[in-house]
Amino acid sequence: MKTYDVIVLGLGGMGSATACHLARRGSRVLGLEQFTPAHDRGSSHGQTRVIRQCYFEHPSYVPLLLRAYELWHALERESGAELLVLGGGLMMGSPESEVVRGSLRSAVEHGLPHELLTRAEICRRFPVFDPPPDTVGLLEPHAGLVRPELAVRAHLQQATASGADLRFEEVVESWSSEGPGVTVRTRKGTYSAGHLVVTPGPWAPELLKDMGVPVAVERQVLLWFQPKGGVGGFMPDRFPIYIWHEDDHRQPYGFPAVDGPEGGVKIAFFRKPAREVCTPETVDRRVRDDDIESLRESIRRFLPALDGGFLRGTTCLYTVTPDLNFVVGPHPGREHVTVGCGFSGHGYKFCSVMGEVLADLAIHGRTPLDLSLFDPQRFGQCTAGI
Ligand SMILES: Cc1cc2nc3c(=O)[nH]c(=O)nc-3n(C[C@H](O)[C@H](O)[C@H](O)COP(=O)(O)OP(=O)(O)OC[C@H]3O[C@@H](n4cnc5c(N)ncnc54)[C@H](O)[C@@H]3O)c2cc1C
Repeated sequence: MKTYDVIVLGLGGMGSATACHLARRGSRVLGLEQFTPAHDRGSSHGQTRVIRQCYFEHPSYVPLLLRAYELWHALERESGAELLVLGGGLMMGSPESEVVRGSLRSAVEHGLPHELLTRAEICRRFPVFDPPPDTVGLLEPHAGLVRPELAVRAHLQQATASGADLRFEEVVESWSSEGPGVTVRTRKGTYSAGHLVVTPGPWAPELLKDMGVPVAVERQVLLWFQPKGGVGGFMPDRFPIYIWHEDDHRQPYGFPAVDGPEGGVKIAFFRKPAREVCTPETVDRRVRDDDIESLRESIRRFLPALDGGFLRGTTCLYTVTPDLNFVVGPHPGREHVTVGCGFSGHGYKFCSVMGEVLADLAIHGRTPLDLSLFDPQRFGQCTAGI
């Protein structure tokens, strides 16, 4: 049985970054992934993810985001891949909406550059938008998008270059943490290590069911439409990423046309009216007519120029906690185990910094960044025997 310093379970967005940071620091790392690199069965696929700093969810995320940006830029330099497109981001809604108010709060508390736009200014600067009368916008210049599949591959490639042993199409069947370290069993072998980092994405409810953290998996869809008058008004040099707080249950968001005239324009619901709780095994992976129609209703209300025709779509999974904050820290009931899960549909932009944080926790048991929002014990007692 080969011995490692750290085993990383799951090499999606978070696990690929963690393996990279660990290997760079000289740890002997084993990464285990049940599918192929940058696959489309979990949460880290679909070509683009929003990245932004004026974080409406909570100002405590901002220091993590500033570090995430530094690390994404470093990964671009090291890998030679273009991972970010930072053409600005527009957070829209009524002045009291969570999206506008919360973004402003983070911008002010952290001194982040931003502009407040009236509806008339939104329509003048970005003529394809036609939002309802009481809409205002917060425009932040450093927002944009990150490319998840390219970024997963870049982290994996850097991990391998630093000596990590990464194994794909190998399902972890069980793990235990008795004695001085951990033992992990797959169908192909048994491995031991001093520490285990579990980054299982939507497989968290099953793999971490003894942790006492109430995470639920939700089906989401990403759709691409062809704009009515062509992609001109949606090109990245004149169209930002955006989130529109339509009401408390509907937040459509989208991207510029980063894949040229034929690629269409991607749009989705960040938060959508009807939750569809599922598992990675039971989820309906087809894109249905009601998915298209429900998003189209919102498109007609604020971005009618996009209603030119449905092109294609894909499904993806959120792993959601009750307070929509992440779960990152020591497993409450198991020694030598660190968890990173429950990223609640807004985790991708943090993968670079979460890789660093999870590596710090695995090696040193602490990180200089404030993780108090993410405490795995905040939902009460863990059910595992300690
Ligand atoms: C539709 C959609 C839109 C999103 N938009 C944004 C956005 O705009 N901005 C943003 O910041 N975030 C966004 N997110 C959220 C973000 O993508 C996720 O938070 C992030 O990708 C989660 O990464 P992860 O590593 O936790 O999960 P994953 O990338 O799914 O990785 C988990 C990995 O663990 C592996 N695994 C699980 N169990 C086992 C096992 N037993 N053995 C071996 N391997 C195993 C899985 O195969 C998988 O590869 C979005 C998510 C979706 C679905």
